[in-house]
Amino acid sequence: IGRHGGQLEEFGFDYNGIHFDQNCFHVFMGPCAVDTPENVEAMCRSMQRLGVTTARMGAYKPRTSPYDFQGHGKACLPWVFEIAGKYGIKVIAMEVLRAVHIEEIFEALEAAGRPTGVMLQVGTRNAQNFELLKAVGSQQEFPVLYKRGMGLTLEESLNACEYIASEGNRNIVFCLRGVKSHLGEPHRNLIDFGHVPVLKRLTRLPVCVDPTHSVGTKDRAPDGILDIFHATAEGVVAGANMVLVEFHPKPETALCDGPQALTLSEMEHYLEDVRIVREAY
Ligand code: PEP
Ligand code: MN
Repeated sequence: IGRHGGQLEEFGFDYNGIHFDQNCFHVFMGPCAVDTPENVEAMCRSMQRLGVTTARMGAYKPRTSPYDFQGHGKACLPWVFEIAGKYGIKVIAMEVLRAVHIEEIFEALEAAGRPTGVMLQVGTRNAQNFELLKAVGSQQEFPVLYKRGMGLTLEESLNACEYIASEGNRNIVFCLRGVKSHLGEPHRNLIDFGHVPVLKRLTRLPVCVDPTHSVGTKDRAPDGILDIFHATAEGVVAGANMVLVEFHPKPETALCDGPQALTLSEMEHYLEDVRIVREAY
């Protein structure tokens, strides 16, 4: 991951027409969990209208409670890929929980004629699942979005990325998504976006921020702006190369993380806000 020298130019990569390096910028938006084809289609249609070709969608969900919706799993992949392709989505960030999920995604993509691409997400709950890290590292087909362990030191999460890279796959993006602390946050997690430049100093990996999982609510600051917007701006100002953010056509019906999901009508405003902040810095 570039901590021990190596050629700078080796650390950028292209996947399905999208370039990733420490200067790129992409917004990956979409629902926490895929629920219905209608909602996925409404989401993708809005994204196409706004010219966004990078999405996030969960099919395999690692839930805190076993009684909560666990995702549709491989059953939804054929229609998710078909709809994404129809609206010009090039890459979908999708979490995998086990090695077999990588095969399921590969097979479904092949069967659909590769209408889109997938970036394999290793979630915070698997940040030190070394077998999963080796599994995503030992394949070259898909890039990997590694999410920092919510209770790990940065060094421990960097070592987790070394597990991926040392297996042969260096197409990794490191994602900050807030960390747990003992302080009783008003937000779901303590926002750690000040670590964007630290990661760029320590590694050659592109750095992503996830404001929705960091904040976890749709609370507003006294200026009327959603905390999620402010957190996004913090990450963008700090130099993030990617933003992962949850949107849902009807957050009140979402099967996962509805309370933090932005609505489609907030999408244009969100992108405009990101553009203005980027231009200002
Ligand atoms: C997600 O991105 O849907 C997710 C579960 O995030 P995290 O692993 O950061 O909690
Ligand atoms: Mn979520």
